[in-house]
Amino acid sequence: MKIKTADDYIQSLRDQDRLVYYNGERVEDITVHPAFIPHINSAAKTYEMATLPEFEDLATAVSHLTGEKISRFTHIHQSVEDLIKKVQLLRAVAHETGSCFQRCVGWDALNAVYMTSYEIDEKHGTNYHQRFLDYLKTIQWSNRMVVGGMTDPKGDRNKAPHQQADPDLFTRVAERRDDGIVIRGAKAHQTGGANSHEILIMPTQFMREADRDYSLVCAVPLDSPGVIQVFGRQTNDGRKFDGRIDAGNPDYGLVGGETLIIFEDVFVPWDRVFMCGETEFSGILVERFATLHRQNYGGCKGGVSDVIVGACFLAAEMQGTEKASHVKEKLAEMMHLTETVYSGSIACSAMGSKTDSGAYYPDPLLANCTKHNITRHIYEIARLAHDVAGGILATMPFESDLRSPQIGKYVEKYLAGVEGVSAENRIRILRLIENMTGGTALVESMHGAGSPQTQKVMYGRLGKLDMKKKWAKKLAGVQD
Ligand code: SF4
Ligand code: FE
Repeated sequence: MKIKTADDYIQSLRDQDRLVYYNGERVEDITVHPAFIPHINSAAKTYEMATLPEFEDLATAVSHLTGEKISRFTHIHQSVEDLIKKVQLLRAVAHETGSCFQRCVGWDALNAVYMTSYEIDEKHGTNYHQRFLDYLKTIQWSNRMVVGGMTDPKGDRNKAPHQQADPDLFTRVAERRDDGIVIRGAKAHQTGGANSHEILIMPTQFMREADRDYSLVCAVPLDSPGVIQVFGRQTNDGRKFDGRIDAGNPDYGLVGGETLIIFEDVFVPWDRVFMCGETEFSGILVERFATLHRQNYGGCKGGVSDVIVGACFLAAEMQGTEKASHVKEKLAEMMHLTETVYSGSIACSAMGSKTDSGAYYPDPLLANCTKHNITRHIYEIARLAHDVAGGILATMPFESDLRSPQIGKYVEKYLAGVEGVSAENRIRILRLIENMTGGTALVESMHGAGSPQTQKVMYGRLGKLDMKKKWAKKLAGVQD
C-alpha cells in the first residue's frame, strides 16, 4: 500500500492540485482549512486503523488479485465472512470517529462495478472487466480513496436524461474519440468528494436506449482538468471555526462532507472506461451499488448510535438522573434500536451470495430493509437522546463564555452537574450529543444511500408478493 498511514493520506491530498470551492472561494489547501479538517480526519482514521494490530483483521484483507495485504476499503468481497467483516469494520470505525468516514461509498462502487463489468463482457464480448481489474489493482496498490459517483442532479424528475432542457443534468459522454471520451455533467451529494483522490462515475438510474450517452461508468482523478468541486453547507458548520467545545465533535464531525462535483469537458482515456452505452446494465448496476451501500447503514450508524448512547449515559450521570427509571428505560430503548439496525446489516451479509463474477453480494431485500430502518430508528434514537439530555441541549452558552474572565465563574457555577462534575465536561458531552443528533446527521440518515421511497420500491420487486398471496389463499381455502 503506497498510502499507508493517516499522515501519508493527508500528504497525498496536498500532492493533488484539486479545484475545491468553499463559501464562494477557492481553497488552495483543504488539509489546513477548518471546514475540511474533521472530514479529512475521519477518512484518515480508515488508514490509521489498518496499521493498528487490534484492527488488522477487520481493516485489512488479502487481495484476491495479487495476494498482497490491502486496505479492506479496496477489497472485493470473496465470501459471506467478508461481507460480515465489512459491517463489523464500519461499526468499529464509527466508534472512533462518531461520524461518517466516507470511504465506504467508493468501496461499494468498486464492488458493484466489478460484478457488473463482468456481466457486460459476458453478454457483449467487451473487455471492460479486464480494464477494471487493471484499474482495481492500481487502487489496491496505491490505496487511493475513491468516491462512488452515482447521484446526478436530475433536473426535471418527470423527464428522462435525454429529454432534459439542459442535457448536462445527467453526466454524459459529450464526445467519443479514438483515445477516450470527453464527459460533461455533475454528480451531487458526493460524500467525501473533496478529500478523495478519484471518482468512480456510475449511471444514476435505469436507462433506456435513447439515454445511451448517459449509461456511463468511468474513473476520473479529482485533479483532472475540468473537475470542479463545490462544498455543501451543513447545520452548525460555522462551529468548526469557533471554539472547539462548541463544535461538539471537533476532530471528526460533522457527518460526511459533501460536494457537488462538476465535469466541464473532462477527458477520460479508454482504459478508465468500464461501461459506455450498455443501457440494459444501468439498472442492475444502480441496484447493486444501492444494495451494497444500504448494507452498511446498521454498521456505521450502529457505531454512531453506540457513541450517542454512551454520551447520554454520561450526561445522565453528570446530571444525577441516571437512576431514574424513565431514563434507564429510554437508554435501553436506544440500545434496542441500535442492535436492531446492526442485526439488519449482519443479516443481509449472512444471507449474501456469490455473483457470476465471483464477488459476494448481500441479500438485497434485507439490505434495503436495513437502510429503511435507519430512516426511522436514527430519528427515534435522536429523539430519545434529546429527551434524556434535557432542554439544556438548546440553551448552553458559548465556550468563550466559559473562558471569559468576567462571566466564566458563573457558567462554571451554574452549569456544573453533580458534585465533582465540572461545567466544562458536562458541556462537552452535551455538545457531542447536539452534534451527533442534529440536522445534517438526521437528513443524512434519511436520504444517504437513497431516500426511503427507493427502499419501498424494492419490497414490491423483491418481496415475493405472489408467494405471500398464495400462502394466504391456501390457509383461507380461497379457490381461484
Ligand atoms: Fe460509510 Fe456510513 Fe458514511 Fe455511508 S454514511 S459513507 S456507509 S460511514
Ligand atoms: Fe451516506
